Amino acid sequence: MENNKLIFPVYCYEELVNHGQSQLPYEACGLLSGRNQTVQSIWKLKNELNSDRRFFVGEKTVNKTLQSIAKREEKVLAIYHSHPTTAPIPSYTDLLNHPDSEVKMIIVSYKTKNPLVKCYRIQKNSYKELPFLMEPLV
Ligand SMILES: [Zn+2]
Repeated sequence: MENNKLIFPVYCYEELVNHGQSQLPYEACGLLSGRNQTVQSIWKLKNELNSDRRFFVGEKTVNKTLQSIAKREEKVLAIYHSHPTTAPIPSYTDLLNHPDSEVKMIIVSYKTKNPLVKCYRIQKNSYKELPFLMEPLV
C-alpha cells in the first residue's frame, strides 16, 4: 500500500477542527488511527504544556491511547496538532519531535478566519505536503 495519501471521513475532519478551536489560545493535539490509509478514529489528547507554540503529552497517556488503538485493531496513521496563530507549516520543533516517518503529521491552523488543515509526510527533518481525500460519513 502506498503511503502517500490519507483518506479522511468528514466527521473526523470536523471533530479535529472543533477540537483545535476548543483549546484556543493553546495548541491542541491528538492521534488519528485507522486501517490502510483510511482514518477511522480520532483521539483527542490534552496538551500538558498549555502553550500556543508547543505541545506535549505524557508517556502514560500516549501508551494508554496506543493500547486502545491496538484493541480496535487499528494503527496510528497521523499525529495532529494545531497552530493557533501561525500558518499550517511544520516548525523546526515539530520536525524534530515527529517520531516516525510512517506516521503523518496533520496541522490545523487558526491563523485565518476559516481553519486550514494540511497533511505532511516527515522524513529526515524535512516535510512534504500530501493530499488528503475527504470521504462522506460511512
Ligand atoms: Zn507545530
